[in-house]
Amino acid sequence: PGQEDYRILHEPDLRDYVARIPVLAAGLGGEPSSWAITEVGDGNLNLVFIVKGARSGVAVKQALPYVRLVGESWPLPLSRAHYEYLALTRQAELAPGLVPTVLHHNDGLALTVMELLEPHIIMRKGLVAGTQYPRFVDDITTFMARTLFFTSDLALSAAEKKEGIAAFAGNHALCKITEDLIFTDPYRIAEQNRWTEPYLDGLAAALRDDLDLHVAISRLKLKFMAGPEALIHGDLHTGSIMVTESQTRVIDPEFAFYGPMGFDVGAVLANLLMAYFASAGHERAPGERHAFEGWMLETVAQVWNEFARKFLDLWRGGAAGDAYPISLFAGEQGAARLEAERHAYMQRLFADTVGFAAAKIVRRIFGLAHNIDFELIEDPRRRATSEARAVRLARAMMVETAPFRTIADVTGAARKLR
Ligand code: ADP
Ligand code: MG
Ligand code: MG
Ligand code: MG
Repeated sequence: PGQEDYRILHEPDLRDYVARIPVLAAGLGGEPSSWAITEVGDGNLNLVFIVKGARSGVAVKQALPYVRLVGESWPLPLSRAHYEYLALTRQAELAPGLVPTVLHHNDGLALTVMELLEPHIIMRKGLVAGTQYPRFVDDITTFMARTLFFTSDLALSAAEKKEGIAAFAGNHALCKITEDLIFTDPYRIAEQNRWTEPYLDGLAAALRDDLDLHVAISRLKLKFMAGPEALIHGDLHTGSIMVTESQTRVIDPEFAFYGPMGFDVGAVLANLLMAYFASAGHERAPGERHAFEGWMLETVAQVWNEFARKFLDLWRGGAAGDAYPISLFAGEQGAARLEAERHAYMQRLFADTVGFAAAKIVRRIFGLAHNIDFELIEDPRRRATSEARAVRLARAMMVETAPFRTIADVTGAARKLR
């Protein structure tokens, strides 16, 4: 089938559709009537089906013309499936083996068929259960360093970079969701905000009155809107990462566009920090999760340090981009100045990362979309205790920025709050 008019493919339709694509039908194996089809979408926006045949399985993701979590009253363009497909294929080139392979895409149906990740689980679920993932640091830092570096002005010509920006510029409705839900609503009265009442009522009111915080979040919002540094994933939380103990796969890049690199790195750090703070609420006996919590903070530190190391290595290894023309940095002195400038660049990226991480924490506690790290803490008083610790750290990371010069300053502050 080529491009088709959009319709929602429910199970029988989906079976027929997949059966008509020879490469998919052959890969699945057996009679189409024998395939097992289940809807597994647990995300906020789209439908995801798993189709299993005699030989193998696939995952089928279809965008809906509205936000799944809210319903038809909140329309959202189907074109997000196009941008997700574009991002997935680009990421597969830049970071091979770290995203699911795309097997088929249909823009008209806003539908993508991809490799079934099995027995992978959503990382967030594993973290709630207290599982450690030894491959995670190396894989996620390779993913971020390579996708961010190779789509930046450090690696691309000016023309290639601007073509890249243009290719994703139409994804502005998804950007607007981020602009509203992350950078605006948690700091004002908004219908969709919610928090653990009544324990966090005071903190919620304080957020709405905190002009220092309003300046800080507005600066971050502007950076998000006006900082096309690289092709970012745009939704890189632990619910967009599927893992086993030996594999890591990044899914769901429908928010991708050319934005600030720190938004992706900050998203990962924020979600690890939230898993850390939530951990206290999941322990059944005091100290039960001590080793896990130690691993979480070590992972926070290693994610930044390994990301920075890999990014700098790529830059040193022969950046062909139009930024920092090598002819301006000739000789030994030139090389030394360029190396110092690389470190200054990473220091600025670190500051952005800390700010974006803080913004991602606040939105999960006071905004529309919450996460199971906190939500699965049944006792609201205990949940609020974990959430309040995370928010206290987030406010400091956004407003009292001076003490956060290295990642050890972040993990040190987090440890003190526990
Ligand atoms: P949404 O954009 O709605 O958040 P996701 O892409 O995050 O959708 O997918 C929703 C869920 O579907 C994931 O949490 C995961 O459980 C499942 N899923 C998505 N892609 C795959 C895949 N390739 N293999 C297995 N499961 C998947
Ligand atoms: Mg998702
Ligand atoms: Mg999301
Ligand atoms: Mg999504």
